[in-house]
Amino acid sequence: MPALFVGHGSPMNALEHNRYTESWRAFGASVPTPRALLVISAHWYINATAVTAMAAPRTIHDFFGFPDELFAVEYPAPGEPEVAAEVADVAHPIWVGLDHDSWGLDHGTWSVLVHAFPDADIPVLQLSINAAKPFEDHVALGARLSALRDRGVLVIGSGNVVHNLRQVSWNRPEAGDDWAQRFDESARAIMTTDPGDVARLREHPDFARAAPTPDHFIPLLYVAGLAAAAAHPADVLVDGYAFGSLSMTSYTVGAPPVGPPPDAPGAEPERVDIPADETNI
Ligand code: ZN
Repeated sequence: MPALFVGHGSPMNALEHNRYTESWRAFGASVPTPRALLVISAHWYINATAVTAMAAPRTIHDFFGFPDELFAVEYPAPGEPEVAAEVADVAHPIWVGLDHDSWGLDHGTWSVLVHAFPDADIPVLQLSINAAKPFEDHVALGARLSALRDRGVLVIGSGNVVHNLRQVSWNRPEAGDDWAQRFDESARAIMTTDPGDVARLREHPDFARAAPTPDHFIPLLYVAGLAAAAAHPADVLVDGYAFGSLSMTSYTVGAPPVGPPPDAPGAEPERVDIPADETNI
């Protein structure tokens, strides 16, 4: 089974059809039907490593100030407690708690899966990001998860390589500031040649601006670790920028090429005027 890192951007991507969402759709259509999806989302950033283990995870609308239509989105995929136990097993000796009733599927997961796997009929699990761990530990855990590929589990990291909400320009939906482009290009150079070295992006002069909080960056570390374990550098699925300070670059590992996404009708991103401090994207 291939693996995927998605730059998920604004939650509005759940409702839109643009070249990013089209690339996610094309990826989902190109892979063999997974036994389960395991998503490391930027939005489950806590002080523990846990995996959702409930049979029916709820759809979580973890944002504010967006249209009612977005709050109405449901992604009713089942969970798969058996796979949760396997996640804990392959992670050993890293301890992974089983979450039976706390989390579910947050928008870092469902805003992507409504496009990649629109039927919501494949079991979905989330793995939390343990905020207390150094980058190297996330890379190492990602490497351990590579064992799940042979068991039909599609591992997906969902974040953004560059994610700075304080510097967002909502009126520039397709812009990437110079510093954002510099960092994204350095990340690409590492991901496509030597992904096991991804943690050294922390030394990049633009790191502090690209990842002022590490929650959206860390999912990339999992896919990098998984790629390194497979001795298979990542490929770029789609790239680009949004609102000046977000990178939308996505990577695949071990996936067949899906070709450039077609220009989807209605690809113009909708403008959303929301102060950054009232959102959580
Ligand atoms: Zn996000």
